[in-house]
Amino acid sequence: MECAGKGRGTRCTGSATRRCGRCGVVAYCSVDHQVKHWNDHKDECKRFELQMERIDALNEFPFTFSEEATVQLCQKQESRCSFLSKRAIHKVGMWFYECPCGEAATSYNFSRLNDGWVLPRLLCPCSEPLSPITKRLHSWKDYYDWRCIPLHSPAALLLHWPLTISYAVQVAGLEPLTPEFGDTLCIHYLGPEKELLQLSVFAELLALFPGVALQIEFFGPNIPEEMNGKTIHLCSFAKCLQMDCVCKSSCKDVDRNVYSNKYPRLVLKLQTGFYHDCYKDITKDCYPHLIIAPNAGIAAYSSWLPTIMNVSGIH
Ligand SMILES: [Zn+2]
Ligand SMILES: [Zn+2]
Ligand SMILES: [Zn+2]
Ligand SMILES: [Zn+2]
Ligand SMILES: [Zn+2]
Repeated sequence: MECAGKGRGTRCTGSATRRCGRCGVVAYCSVDHQVKHWNDHKDECKRFELQMERIDALNEFPFTFSEEATVQLCQKQESRCSFLSKRAIHKVGMWFYECPCGEAATSYNFSRLNDGWVLPRLLCPCSEPLSPITKRLHSWKDYYDWRCIPLHSPAALLLHWPLTISYAVQVAGLEPLTPEFGDTLCIHYLGPEKELLQLSVFAELLALFPGVALQIEFFGPNIPEEMNGKTIHLCSFAKCLQMDCVCKSSCKDVDRNVYSNKYPRLVLKLQTGFYHDCYKDITKDCYPHLIIAPNAGIAAYSSWLPTIMNVSGIH
């Protein structure tokens, strides 16, 4: 977390480990910065405090994480590394950044764009669903049932990114495929972090939004300059471990994620920097139908505050 009092006269004296005792939402590097920030914080502190009382409701957002895995990690204090090792997915494929080993290597380079599940076919959604999605998904069980995956599969740990998007579209009451959406459902996704290194998993949106053309634009300071403005077309699902599985033949070209598709259905775009800095230029030609910031606690990052002001000003 970032010190909420960052840039107040003096430099931060370390990492922000002191949480505001009242709301618990913001954190500071020092008492000094906490005191200096209080005048700005006291109004939002009251608001945060009220929101935190409703945290249970917020936690009901069903696809934010895999409950099974989280409970295990908290109660048995099993480390991420051993959780992944037991399932033979430690430091491989899309799992590379799911434990401290990979986090240390994080440089947001995109060479891992073709990473797969590294799981047996039966444990991951590597190809088109057997039946199209017909009902709304309300839980991981709904999802796993639909995708014919056993509940003990760890796939949810990565699938929470695309499922959170589809759930947000549901909650917002958006009905893609109705005329008002034009050709493309456009979503602005703010503040991506680790998911930038797991973009293959977003291909699950092909199954979640059949027949819909989707454009997801990522905005954030973690997108490296050299990727700024880049477009990625996802045309097939992240692959499983089995060499003879259909997922190996569905899209023969090695560059499945590169820029050649004639009619892309799922386009990811990357924009470096804070949303409030590029917002005005972007919305001219493509107004988003939905803006989401799934990395919880975005309000606790003071550098995003102008974005929140802007976005709340739109309504
Ligand atoms: Zn500070
Ligand atoms: Zn506070
Ligand atoms: Zn590890
Ligand atoms: Zn497969
Ligand atoms: Zn757009």
